[in-house]
Amino acid sequence: MPKPRYLGTSASWPLLDEIRESFLLIVGLYRTKAYKSFLSSTQTSPHDIAISQLLPHISTPNIHKISVQDDTRLDFIVVGGGTAGNTVAGRLAENPNVRVLVLEAGVGNSKDIEEIRTPAEAMQLRNSKYDWAYKTTMVKRDDYERIEKPNTRGKALGGSSSLNYFTWAPGSKGTYGMWEEYGGKEWTWDPLVPYLRKPATYYDDEKAYPEELTKIGGGGPIPIAHSALIPEMQPFRDLLTEACKSTGHPITENIFDGTMLGLIHSVNTIYQGRRSGNFLSVADKSNVTILPEVHSKRLIIDEASRTSFSLLVKSSSRKGFFETPKLLMLSGIGPAPELAKHSIPLIVDSRWVGQNLLDHPGVPFVLRVKDEYGMDDYILRKGTPKHDHALNAYSKGYGGPMGSGFLELVGFPRIDNYLERSPEYRAAKASNDDRDPFCPYGQPHFELDFVCLFGSAFQWHYPTPSEGSYITVMVDLVRPVSEPGEITLNSVDPLQQANINLNYFNNDLDIIAIREGIRYAYDILKHGEGFQDIVLGKYPWKMPLHDDELMKRTVLDRSQTSFHPCGTARLSRNIQQGVVDPSLKVHEVNNLRVIDASVVPVIPDCRIQNSVYMVAEKGADLIKQDHKDIYA
Ligand SMILES: Cc1cc2nc3c(=O)[nH]c(=O)nc-3n(C[C@H](O)[C@H](O)[C@H](O)COP(=O)(O)OP(=O)(O)OC[C@H]3O[C@@H](n4cnc5c(N)ncnc54)[C@H](O)[C@@H]3O)c2cc1C
Repeated sequence: MPKPRYLGTSASWPLLDEIRESFLLIVGLYRTKAYKSFLSSTQTSPHDIAISQLLPHISTPNIHKISVQDDTRLDFIVVGGGTAGNTVAGRLAENPNVRVLVLEAGVGNSKDIEEIRTPAEAMQLRNSKYDWAYKTTMVKRDDYERIEKPNTRGKALGGSSSLNYFTWAPGSKGTYGMWEEYGGKEWTWDPLVPYLRKPATYYDDEKAYPEELTKIGGGGPIPIAHSALIPEMQPFRDLLTEACKSTGHPITENIFDGTMLGLIHSVNTIYQGRRSGNFLSVADKSNVTILPEVHSKRLIIDEASRTSFSLLVKSSSRKGFFETPKLLMLSGIGPAPELAKHSIPLIVDSRWVGQNLLDHPGVPFVLRVKDEYGMDDYILRKGTPKHDHALNAYSKGYGGPMGSGFLELVGFPRIDNYLERSPEYRAAKASNDDRDPFCPYGQPHFELDFVCLFGSAFQWHYPTPSEGSYITVMVDLVRPVSEPGEITLNSVDPLQQANINLNYFNNDLDIIAIREGIRYAYDILKHGEGFQDIVLGKYPWKMPLHDDELMKRTVLDRSQTSFHPCGTARLSRNIQQGVVDPSLKVHEVNNLRVIDASVVPVIPDCRIQNSVYMVAEKGADLIKQDHKDIYA
């Protein structure tokens, strides 16, 4: 067996003496073999091994222990216990004889943390200790540049599924069709549908929705359900639905068969008032051991054989980073010029690592509405009778508004008529064989999130109003045409975050699209039947709807992430096209796979957690297929 080369440290790595296959999940997952000699050399008692012995580079204040039988071995180590990582860990642990260790940079007890489990608290998690809180370049144009902090990403078991805003949508068939160019036929809608449905179990306890929707949950560990129809939100629901109908916006409950158009009651990762984060995939699995509050510094890759062996880890710090491309680059896999800048020895010149950073830019806006239509008093105004009422209801079986994620009504419109008004759009369409440059396969142009209170996570530049009721609308452009952004190294120090440039609005067409999307949303709310009567004003200032130049400035100033970054280690047919092959193995490296949001080659046309779970479910099956000895 070739000797591993220990990057960046002189420390030895005696423990994993024979590695059969390695995988990178968010950060990494390793299949190992022949631990017996290691175990016998390190055991402190017949049945306990201190993790500090297992992983000598951890300096954790707590002594984490795993129990190991005399003759057991660890089969897999998953690094990054997030949305994808835990799905894979949970699936691999379906064989009760397999032992899985999960290394997670954040806390490990998400399941028991009330702020994480209580849906109405979700927006308060921004910039908390459970948030990586990245500094991010949002816009970098010759005429405009903007850097923001924090950009939220989950740092807790369950990853971003522990902090996200719950909506569960699969995306359109047309967009998955575009994945074929990168992953081949097996990465298109029809073969992926079972994986989109496998992670969840759908509940409709009140039998309020079409029975056929049970198909969207295939018995998986994540309970999903339509938003509970909280009575306090009924007036908002009714009026918004009426307003949409009267302005010709379609209403539907089925966005799960490849077409996503219309206003829906959102399905969410909330069940019976509790967040269904992906700590659930590994909960109560006796053959999965979680090691929290450690993170990986780099992979150990043998230079001669280009074989991944293991990784070095360190105790956690407050700094976070977009981990996968950064870890690859720190380990010698990445664009040669980028690695040379930091004097990192090159193992594989993989030019797409860190490139193709995709996300949905969005512009939020807030309207003040009549008091009975907003939930602000119930959720945001501590000490008021309504807030007490909400707390009281939640304390009795997780009922009432605290159990809501508030993204209850979501619209997926096409706005061709609005776009056609723009000469720039018409020219772009004409030069694209007269096909819509954004959504040529019938996909929605936008996801419109209608939130019936002041949504601080979407409006962090403005103070939360101390009185009155509000609604927040997030206008997410789901098929932007700007050049993707990139992640580059900031330093060789693994604890420094990478440079993140989302590169929004590198193409003016995206500004025009969002401008029109805002106008469309305003038209529903200001002119739709019923709703117009409850709008009292705009907050914090008026939207300059009638002035294109001012709207451009508004979009540049007020746009923000919809929290869906992906694509920086994309799926591909070869190394000229991307980072991982259709089996999610890293090109030109043995024993290494990437399974997380970074492999997504074309961003889905909605919020992306369902797609990330899908990638992980498929990834788990791909791993199993390669290890038939333990997965018959
Ligand atoms: C605020 C917010 C709101 C969102 N809302 C929605 C929504 O409503 N609907 C939707 O569909 N999607 C939503 N998303 C997107 C969705 O949640 C994410 O795309 C998805 O969860 C990403 O999964 P992942 O496995 O790629 O990464 P994550 O789930 O983020 O997992 C990465 C994990 O790796 C850990 N980690 C990182 N580095 C290291 C290291 N070096 N060592 C050890 N561990 C490490 C992290 O702590 C984390 O647990 C939202 C995201 C955010 C942040």
